[in-house]
Amino acid sequence: MRIENDIKLGFKDVMIRPKRSTLSSRAEVTLARKFKFLHGGDAWQGIPIMAANMDTVGTMEMAAALAEHQLFTALHKHYTPAQWKTFMETGGTAITEQIAVSTGTNDADAKKLAVILAENSTLRFVCIDVANGYAEKFVDFVKSTREKHPGKVIIAGNVVTGEMVEELLLAGADMVKVGIGPGSVCTTRVKTGVGYPQLSAIIECADAAHGLGGQIISDGGCKVPGDVAKAFGGGADFVMLGGMLAGHEESGGQLVEKEDGSKYKQFYGMSSETAMEKYANGVAEYRASEGKTIEIPFRGSVSDTVLDILGGLRSTCTYVGAQSLKELTKRTTFIRVQEQHNEWFGE
Ligand code: 5GP
Repeated sequence: MRIENDIKLGFKDVMIRPKRSTLSSRAEVTLARKFKFLHGGDAWQGIPIMAANMDTVGTMEMAAALAEHQLFTALHKHYTPAQWKTFMETGGTAITEQIAVSTGTNDADAKKLAVILAENSTLRFVCIDVANGYAEKFVDFVKSTREKHPGKVIIAGNVVTGEMVEELLLAGADMVKVGIGPGSVCTTRVKTGVGYPQLSAIIECADAAHGLGGQIISDGGCKVPGDVAKAFGGGADFVMLGGMLAGHEESGGQLVEKEDGSKYKQFYGMSSETAMEKYANGVAEYRASEGKTIEIPFRGSVSDTVLDILGGLRSTCTYVGAQSLKELTKRTTFIRVQEQHNEWFGE
């Protein structure tokens, strides 16, 4: 047994210190970024915020809505090749720079991925997603995907430490997804005791990735636009959101109407009992569910939420004098705090 004594930080442990700035308005801030990838193909341009590849968030409807704002969607892995074909023919091709096809890591997943990519050659982004990115089998899957699909941009995760980020980039990933346990409907930390405070994970993993010319995606734990700003301030290249984009018209999950007329949308973790019953005939005896199922008050169209997030982010940039999102991390000084916002009248 060993103890690491360095303090590791989450979003709630810091605030961003304001700095003297020459910017006079939020309108002067550019949120779009341009990235070159370590292995796969041409540069990418857009606003680097991404809907999570959960079946309640990473839907085709969400992808269409977010692409209008230049945001990205990692579509969930349960779409069939037939659904992909129809989607690409009815608008998907036009937003191919804003979508990724997700996959698990077994043989059937690899075959399905190959079919989807063969039938939709304009697709450029592949998201290989497992709960625990530390398994050797996972690294092997990243390697074989890189060999089979050399021109694609490969996202791989999830991990939380620099050495594993490096290993995945060297195995063929372009971007590594970072986050174990911070998710809004995740119970991994409760069930297993495993995890890493998200802001420290971002800071350490970004350093490792940038040293090799790769990128990281901060995945999970953002509850408010300020957390998204802190993730970018810590060095995240992309920020992936689940809960913040759930509960909308474009989200998946059942719409529930209560007797008093109030509306809710179901939201659940991808390893919750709900998801396992839907896709894997229940929770296998050897594993525990590591996700929750909740109901979120219905929030209408996702566009309003997106504008709120982007407005917050522009404002962060003006507070620290960053003319573009790219500059935000250079201009960020975090201060450690023991308080966040005033909760007297609610959130
Ligand atoms: P959020 O933005 O809601 O805080 O976090 C979204 C992330 O939570 C997802 O992208 C994914 O990495 C993670 N996640 C989704 N479902 C589950 C689950 O059932 N269990 C765990 N441990 N994590 C989950």
